Amino acid sequence: MTVTTINHTSRAHAVLSASAADRWMHCPPSARLAEQYPQTSSSYAEEGTRAHEIAEQCLRAFKDGQPEPIYEGDDQRIRGELDVYINGIIETYNAELAIHPDTTLILESKVDFSQYVPDGFGTADVIIMAGSRMYVIDLKFGQGVEVNAPGNPQLRLYGLGAYHLYEDLYDITHIMLEIRQPRKDHYSCDFMTVEDLIQWGNEVVKPTAATAYEGKGEFVCGDWCRFCPVKNCKHRATVNQKLMEEHPDPAALNKKELGTILQQLGQVKSWMDTLTSYATDQILSGEQIPGWKLVEGRSVRKYIDEDKVAEKLKSEGYAEATIYEKVLLGITKMEKAIGKKLFADLLGDLVVKPAGAPTLAPESDKRKPYNQQQQILEEMEIEEE
Ligand code: SF4
Repeated sequence: MTVTTINHTSRAHAVLSASAADRWMHCPPSARLAEQYPQTSSSYAEEGTRAHEIAEQCLRAFKDGQPEPIYEGDDQRIRGELDVYINGIIETYNAELAIHPDTTLILESKVDFSQYVPDGFGTADVIIMAGSRMYVIDLKFGQGVEVNAPGNPQLRLYGLGAYHLYEDLYDITHIMLEIRQPRKDHYSCDFMTVEDLIQWGNEVVKPTAATAYEGKGEFVCGDWCRFCPVKNCKHRATVNQKLMEEHPDPAALNKKELGTILQQLGQVKSWMDTLTSYATDQILSGEQIPGWKLVEGRSVRKYIDEDKVAEKLKSEGYAEATIYEKVLLGITKMEKAIGKKLFADLLGDLVVKPAGAPTLAPESDKRKPYNQQQQILEEMEIEEE
């Protein structure tokens, strides 16, 4: 079986990349400034890249009517976590195919949106052409921040690129922009007409991208700073220092002031985390930060080789009951071991999900408000049982 795979690690990066569009559209001068900073990767990014490769291989195998590759080790875990995503794409494709016999599944399509963004290109994970509708689907493998489709500039840019790539071949009138984030069990979509998308491209993206490409425009701080390579940004420092100075004595805060400060706290905390990791990296690379040094953090003892430890103790006459403890499998492992259905049938009545601790969240948070009385009642019921 042949499975062609794009080397996802080698996906090139433009000055105004689609993945950083949220940042440079809010803070245009960040694009040129970021060029002076090295591009870093993380184990999360590498895992995401591998997930994209595996998803592509499996969907390509489906498309070619071939069996999927067999994965081992960590790849097997990633394949399992992609299950909902891969099955979901196949379901969407099959559902459209039942209505439109010429439905086409396109994987890893290089899309060019340079008529809106200088040198703008990117790779759309999945495109499905179905009648007059085009799906542009982006896989997000992260399980931290939930990513939403409405207003998402990265997805819209891919949508523009995909539209222009296929406009001569297909009569596209509507575009379904989707984010599928399987590890967060999150799906989000934005349905747009082609006219609206092109209007956004011409009226919003084009002028902002031109400004950003020239390294001009205003610095603006916000959530997007978290992913900005300019870790030591002066503008961000000035804004956050001002935020901290502006507030009166905490003892005299009224409720309105408290609400405002809480809203700003996330931004200040994220800036402080950025500065801490930036300073750590600087010292590790041999730079001096006056008044600061690195020390060893807390660590815990661990066995070098558990089998050898057990062997040694047994040879000294220790019984297994003394050196091992019998532990019941945790819920996730147990579900895997006996299967979800059997787990629910046999153990459904023996599993509870205790209420989480009250956590402060902005009003826009999707979770329902914490109900203290309800929680007390539920806890009493569990205890009685
Ligand atoms: S840290 Fe924020 S304000 Fe500074 S350049 Fe980056 S995006 Fe702009």
